Amino acid sequence: MSNNKKLGLTARIVIGMVAGILVGFFFKAILAGQEERELVFFGFSMPLKAFFIDGVFHVGGEIFIASLKMLVVPLVFVSLVCGTCSLSDTSSLGRLGGKTIGLYLITTAIAISLAMTAAIVVGPGKGVAMQSDASFDISEAPSLAQVFINIFPSNPIESMAQGNMLQIIVFAVLFGLAMALSGKPGERLAMVFTDLSEVIMKLVNILMNLAPYGVFFLMAKLFTTLGFETIASLAKYFGVVLTVLLFHGLVSYSIILKLLTGLNPLIFIRKMRDAALFGFSTSSSNATMPVTMETVTKKLGVKNSIASFTVPLGATINMDGTAIMQGVATVFIAQVFLVDLTIGDYLMVILTATLASIGTAGVPGVGLIMLAMVLQQVGLPVEGIALIIGVDRLLDMTRTAVNVTGDAMVSCVVGKSEKQFDQAVFDDENAGLKDESVDFHHLR
Ligand code: ASP
Repeated sequence: MSNNKKLGLTARIVIGMVAGILVGFFFKAILAGQEERELVFFGFSMPLKAFFIDGVFHVGGEIFIASLKMLVVPLVFVSLVCGTCSLSDTSSLGRLGGKTIGLYLITTAIAISLAMTAAIVVGPGKGVAMQSDASFDISEAPSLAQVFINIFPSNPIESMAQGNMLQIIVFAVLFGLAMALSGKPGERLAMVFTDLSEVIMKLVNILMNLAPYGVFFLMAKLFTTLGFETIASLAKYFGVVLTVLLFHGLVSYSIILKLLTGLNPLIFIRKMRDAALFGFSTSSSNATMPVTMETVTKKLGVKNSIASFTVPLGATINMDGTAIMQGVATVFIAQVFLVDLTIGDYLMVILTATLASIGTAGVPGVGLIMLAMVLQQVGLPVEGIALIIGVDRLLDMTRTAVNVTGDAMVSCVVGKSEKQFDQAVFDDENAGLKDESVDFHHLR
């Protein structure tokens, strides 16, 4: 425990991640071509793959992801109810919603425009052969109309059971509003919800402390199974997506933050480390949401009344990293299939990818499914997705880190403009760190 205290959480997560990657590579090397290899230990023989990769690593990683997801629905519902009912002026809700959604859409449009410009300049698809043995099933892409209808719940319990975030948001906002308008009963209930929210945040902290182990298992499993062969043939595509992701995450966000709030972007980036690492290792903005929430409120200083709305909404509809992949992928596929896209097509891609990001759930790999919708809009062959599927896993991890950073950046902008922002917390290097280290000895 004392060691843990000395070493920050970020450092421990990075150690878990690097150790996991090394162990993954080690298993990949010793299992190469010998899937049945066994380890003999005190006379017992253990099949390496079944015991470690499909056993310990798989189980450990899945439990970690499940426990993060476990918190999402209660956290979003409870903190959003708290947030809405504590808004001093309920009519500000419309302004808040408009501002947040507007910023999310604008940052996504910037992201995809950057991505397409880079892809047009570099030309990653020029000279790439069309053949691919991977296949892609397009049946899952929902229509745009359905995306909008799906925002409204007919049964909130069902929405919660299915983890349908937009529906939960709508219900929580209405519930919170009704509480704010209910006088005494609403006030009493608000106290219960505030306490609940504190307890759930403590649970988030507890889980964050276990993250180094969870991340280790996730990485060990992933890097044993990850194939790097396709990366070489798609190096240009991979490189363009990665470069634009890094540029957007580090440069665009810094500029937007500085311009709109005057806040120091370096402090912002430093404080985002943990959330970005969680996003990277889980590939899921949804699963990372509890950590984003804790970062935005406890480290960046955005008040809960804003963060409880902007973070879940962002994790659900704001996918700048995903849009970047979709922008590059569209240009790449057009180049591979020798289709000339017009300016009108490019504008169409910006529009559809921005709207598609609303319907992209924050879970691993969904960005590719929504890419089908974008491709169809401009008449590009959806089979093109099969070409890039092989390198998508690593890009998914990176773009999720960007998605999460975007949510936090917009939360800061909205918080600051609504004067629901604690500058002292933002400036304090150690803000939130004390909450993060849970004293388990307390239980004894
Ligand atoms: N994995 C991404 C996220 O959760 C979504 C995607 O791009 O597939 O943010």
